Amino acid sequence: MRPAVFLDRDDTLIECRRLPAPASPAKAGDLTDPALVRLLPGVAEGLASLARVGFALVVVSNQGVVARGGATCERVEEINRGVDEAIVRAGGPRVDGFYFCPYHPLGSVAEFSRDHEWRKPAPGMILAAASELGLDLARSWLIGDAERDIQAGIAAGLSASRCLLIGEDQKLPDLQAAAEVVVAEASGLRVLRGAEVSAVDLRPLEDGALDDARTRETVLASARSIAEQHGVPLVELGVASGALRLGVRADRLVALAFAAEVRRATNAWHRARKGSALWPGDFGPG
Ligand SMILES: [Mg+2]
Repeated sequence: MRPAVFLDRDDTLIECRRLPAPASPAKAGDLTDPALVRLLPGVAEGLASLARVGFALVVVSNQGVVARGGATCERVEEINRGVDEAIVRAGGPRVDGFYFCPYHPLGSVAEFSRDHEWRKPAPGMILAAASELGLDLARSWLIGDAERDIQAGIAAGLSASRCLLIGEDQKLPDLQAAAEVVVAEASGLRVLRGAEVSAVDLRPLEDGALDDARTRETVLASARSIAEQHGVPLVELGVASGALRLGVRADRLVALAFAAEVRRATNAWHRARKGSALWPGDFGPG
C-alpha cells in the first residue's frame, strides 16, 4: 500500500482568498469559475518532489458552495480538472484523486443542506480515499491552510506531526515548504549545507558496503544517469568515509528528491542482487 499526501485545495494549491468575491449566492473565497484557476507559487515543484519519493497525491476539499447554490457538482469537477491540468502544465504530476464535499448545514439547496461525514473537520473524504485507492494512512501526511484540515487528518488517524498547517503567518509559509518537510522526513535524509550547493550524504546500512567495487560503481553510475535523466545539476559525486556524497547546485528540495530517487533505484538493484536493501529508510517495493 502506498502512503499519500492529502491536500486541501483552496489556498493550499490554488489562490482563492484573494480573488474578487463571486456573485451571490457564492461567497468570498468560493471559486466558481474554472477560468480563474491559478496555482500558488511552488505548488507544481512541491507536488513533483512528493510524487518522486512515492506518495499518492489526493485532494480533499470542502465545497459548501454547492450547498449554497453557487456552483453545481459538475462545475466543481470541471474546476478540479482545471487544477489537475494547471499542475501538469507547470511541470508537476497528475493528482491521483480529487474528493470534495458539496454539503453544508446552512445551505439553501435542499439536497446538500445538511452536515455530512465527508465535511472537514470530519475524516470521511480521507477514509473513503484510503479505502478506494488502497492508501497506507499510517505513513500518510496532510497539508492544508485551515485548522479544520488538520483536525480532519487527525480524525482519520494520521499522526498529528504529519498534519502540516501552512500559511503566511505559519512556520511553513506554503506547500513547497511543507513538501520539503515531508520529503526530508519520509526519506530519512538531511541536507548538510543549504547554500548554493546542497549536499546529501547517504550512509549504507552495512558499514563498508561501498568498498565493494561493483556496488560502488553501480551506485555512482546510477546517480549520474538519474541526474542526467531529470536534469539535476550534479556537481559533487563520490564516496568518502564509507558514505555516498551527492552535491547538487540547486535548493534543498531538489537535493532531497534526487537523493531519494538514487536511493530507491540502487536499493532495488541491491535487493535483486543481494536480497537486502543497501540504504535504510525508503519505502521499498510496493
Ligand atoms: Mg483551504
